Amino acid sequence: MIDIEAYKRFFIDILTTIILPVFGGICFVIWIFYFFQYPVITFPTVFIIFLIIYFLSGPVFGGVLLAFTVSAGLFAIAIIDNSYDKIMLIYEIIWMVFVFFRLEHHRNIYISLKRKLEVEHEVLDRDIALIQSSITENEKRSSALIQRMANFQKFEKIISSLESSMNEHELIKLIEELTSKFISKGKWKTKRFFKKNIFIEYVKTNKIPLLITDTSDDKRFSNNDYKDITSIIVMPIEVEGLYWGYIEGISIIKNIKFNDSDLRLLSVLSNILGIILYNTSLFNKISALVITDGLTGLYTRTYFIERLQEEIERANSNNLSMVIAMIDIDHFKSVNDKYGHIAGDMLLRQIADILRKRFREIDIIARYGGEEFTIFISQTAITDGFAILEEIRKNIENEKFFLPVESYHPIQIRKTISIGLAELNKEKTTDEIIQKADLALYKAKNTGRNKTCIYTENK
Ligand code: GH3
Ligand code: MG
Ligand code: MG
Repeated sequence: MIDIEAYKRFFIDILTTIILPVFGGICFVIWIFYFFQYPVITFPTVFIIFLIIYFLSGPVFGGVLLAFTVSAGLFAIAIIDNSYDKIMLIYEIIWMVFVFFRLEHHRNIYISLKRKLEVEHEVLDRDIALIQSSITENEKRSSALIQRMANFQKFEKIISSLESSMNEHELIKLIEELTSKFISKGKWKTKRFFKKNIFIEYVKTNKIPLLITDTSDDKRFSNNDYKDITSIIVMPIEVEGLYWGYIEGISIIKNIKFNDSDLRLLSVLSNILGIILYNTSLFNKISALVITDGLTGLYTRTYFIERLQEEIERANSNNLSMVIAMIDIDHFKSVNDKYGHIAGDMLLRQIADILRKRFREIDIIARYGGEEFTIFISQTAITDGFAILEEIRKNIENEKFFLPVESYHPIQIRKTISIGLAELNKEKTTDEIIQKADLALYKAKNTGRNKTCIYTENK
């Protein structure tokens, strides 16, 4: 591209250093030649020419010429005879000097305005640069914000999926999946106490996270500890302020490195995990404390098993008989499907009431699962147990159950149950005896339902 400014500068330099002085010199010679012959005409002509030179070449050279012109004018006044020329010259000198000072005044105003404009221009340029940098900064910030919003939405999903999972094993698996989804580099694992390596020991002892972006720059561990590892990140998981486990990320690829933002994200994840783990343990503790089932008012499975264990020990050491029954409602699912879950719940409650009324205080009846019940009947032989449960089965078979449906009148249905019975025979654990009753129930279901089956060794 042609640099017009450079050409302009070059032209002005030539003009001021060569052409104008030469031109001024020529004019000066002509003037000297004619001045004393025609002073009234030559004086203003030369004055104007020198004035132009003055403005173009600057005050030093032009000023000398002008001063010289005026002196020459004054000198001419003194030496010429013609009084008309004298008066005209005086008149011209006064006018020219006046014009000069007016022009000089405007020139000064122009120069100061130009300087002011230049300064303003500079300030404006600086402001524009500032605005531009703040625009780019804001663009960066807004894209970071959008990214954060997207992460936040993802986080919301994570939290809800984590909250709905109440099992420690599931939680750990979920966290591992999420970490590798969020920080899609390296290999991830989440563990409890047991696994030990030097990095995990470091995190556990110092109770701080460990981030080694580049293992070749770190002197905390020896090269032997790193082996093929190029970058490592370990975040402790704390539950109620106590070390519970860790999330560990390892990279063995040279240009895949963990950084501060990975550490921050990991810290959020480990905090969430810590809170959820704490809630899970509370939930499990509270569940264990609850002994009655909310829907049916019968005992809970946890309580049942606890009591059954005690009863087994008591019966075994005192040589007492004991019967355990497993009850499952026949085709219960069809009630839900036909009349809805609320109707299903109502049926569960009515059947639970029938069971409760028939048994004694010392017999424990529990809601074992969805529509399954368990009972242990203490100090009772299998034949008596069988008679009691058969009686119950028949009662239920003959009962009319009223269920609420959307129509005005509640509907009336009949239901049957299947029962599996097992007698305590030196079994030591609850699992053993429950499994036997379960097998008997399975047999009742498989052989037509609405019946009571007793467990026998050959089924
Ligand atoms: P089966 O004779 O083989 O026992 O048939 P079933 O339909 O009863 O089968 P199953 O015992 O497997 O059915 C369990 C059904 O019980 C599935 C579930 O919809 C329902 N259920 C479990 N818990 C509840 C509950 O609390 N309320 C209601 N309304 N339904 C439940
Ligand atoms: Mg069932
Ligand atoms: Mg059933």
